[in-house]
Amino acid sequence: MKFADLHLHTYFSDGTFSPEEVVGYGQKAGLAALALTDHDSVEGCTRAAAACAAAGIEFITGVELTAEHDDIEVHLLGYFMDAQNEKLIVEIAKFQAVRQNRIREMVAHLNELNVPLEAESVFVLANCKSPGRPHVARALVKAGLCKTSDEAFERFLKKNRPAWVPKAKMSALQGVGLIHQAGGLAVMAHPGLNRTDEIIPALVDAGLDGIECFHTKHSTKTAERYLEIADKFNLLVTGGSDCHGFSKGKPLIGGVKLPYEHVEKLKSRVENRGSRAGIPDSTLRNPH
Ligand SMILES: [Zn+2]
Ligand SMILES: [Zn+2]
Repeated sequence: MKFADLHLHTYFSDGTFSPEEVVGYGQKAGLAALALTDHDSVEGCTRAAAACAAAGIEFITGVELTAEHDDIEVHLLGYFMDAQNEKLIVEIAKFQAVRQNRIREMVAHLNELNVPLEAESVFVLANCKSPGRPHVARALVKAGLCKTSDEAFERFLKKNRPAWVPKAKMSALQGVGLIHQAGGLAVMAHPGLNRTDEIIPALVDAGLDGIECFHTKHSTKTAERYLEIADKFNLLVTGGSDCHGFSKGKPLIGGVKLPYEHVEKLKSRVENRGSRAGIPDSTLRNPH
């Protein structure tokens, strides 16, 4: 059996592995295909593609966008986009600026609470264009202001905690459109975590292509429920570990094994969309 892991983060967002490390661990896990899905970034994709080519693993360009619909936060995974697509690059740069401003606001709140963290130390630690709360947590630990990242989230950074700042998000419908215009497929990430079931029909109307049924934090029962929903709405099925680095001493990569037949279905949807929508072949990323 061939398997894929289609949800992986690197240090180009809030993961701790380099693209090459991700691919190395993917190879150890015996993956036939993998996708990088950094938050608001496709920067790691070129290096991951090269490492995958050397390792004999099929690489799929991906991204994870934070969006909302009817005040419900939803994470959208994009697959097979043209990473050079101009509109995608412009919009991603805007989301990255929003993320950087949010870090400054969270640090300002911490300072009001007499926690002497500097925004610059978060940016230096993050060393990427898509900084997020995990980086603030790690900076707090590094500065000796919290013992663990979990403690930093509990005391300051979780939703409605004193240093939490709501994140300005794009609309989910815009997100689906952004991924599509770049030649990609739009997939709802980990619906079991965000409780986004009620907005599935609206996103399906907007052209949602798939749903992430298999995820580290989905129980077997949850996965089964989303497989039924996928069937009902004629959505493609995806899955991934959502690896951000080591978890309890082990890389999560390959912890979720998506049967390769689902990758075949994703590819045939991209190819059919390309010809139906009249997108020139050159804008469709060849997955091989
Ligand atoms: Zn997510
Ligand atoms: Zn993720």
